[in-house]
Amino acid sequence: MSDYPEDDWLALSGLQHFAFCRRQWALIHIEQQWQDNYLTTAGSLEHERAHDYGESETRGDLLIMRDLRVFSRRLGITGACDVVEFRKSPDGVPLHGRNGTWSPYPVEYKHGRPKQQDADRLQLCAEAMCLEEMLACTIPEGALFYQQTKHRERVCFDSSLRERIVAMTHEMHDLINRGHTPKVRPSKSCRACSLRDVCLPNLVKTQSARQFIEDRLKAESTKRSDENEAAA
Ligand code: SF4
Repeated sequence: MSDYPEDDWLALSGLQHFAFCRRQWALIHIEQQWQDNYLTTAGSLEHERAHDYGESETRGDLLIMRDLRVFSRRLGITGACDVVEFRKSPDGVPLHGRNGTWSPYPVEYKHGRPKQQDADRLQLCAEAMCLEEMLACTIPEGALFYQQTKHRERVCFDSSLRERIVAMTHEMHDLINRGHTPKVRPSKSCRACSLRDVCLPNLVKTQSARQFIEDRLKAESTKRSDENEAAA
């Protein structure tokens, strides 16, 4: 598979949406719809805090970098790692402006508690795959830190997680190229979905959310004109 040109790179954070629901990802990334709910708002606040701890710092043989921009030409994605811990190690890689070699260990901060779904693990693994490509190294493991439980969950970047990311990014690029939003498939996820009102899983089974909204706006505007005419 050839590399994706930079103009075609997609948001790495979209992998989480895609894993949650392909339609939700398409509504956000293809149709540009977005709505906050408690889960997304709390998530972004926690995220801001993770990105608010300051610049890189060194603690002995540990170098901590925050908000590190990453990309992968092979996957055609780009984003930022909350935290990457680099430990001085003979098996590591050289870093610009630093002595010695360092082994990277990505850490993502999440609100709430560990989830059944793999969305968080997939995002973390995608970050690791970007770092591997940028630094020409292998990263076997990273961690997710959950604010609610104050617990660090170790994530092994095994072949099945990696293969899923390759397949998902390929499918995301295909949907973007075709401008195709998958149809509604109501599931348990819909209850916690930030786009439930836009997607309307119980009402909109055949038309796109964009079409539905345009129709609603048109109907509202016609109603207002009729009322104005009646009042004149
Ligand atoms: S409401 Fe359900 S089907 Fe619609 S985007 Fe959200 S999770 Fe997907």
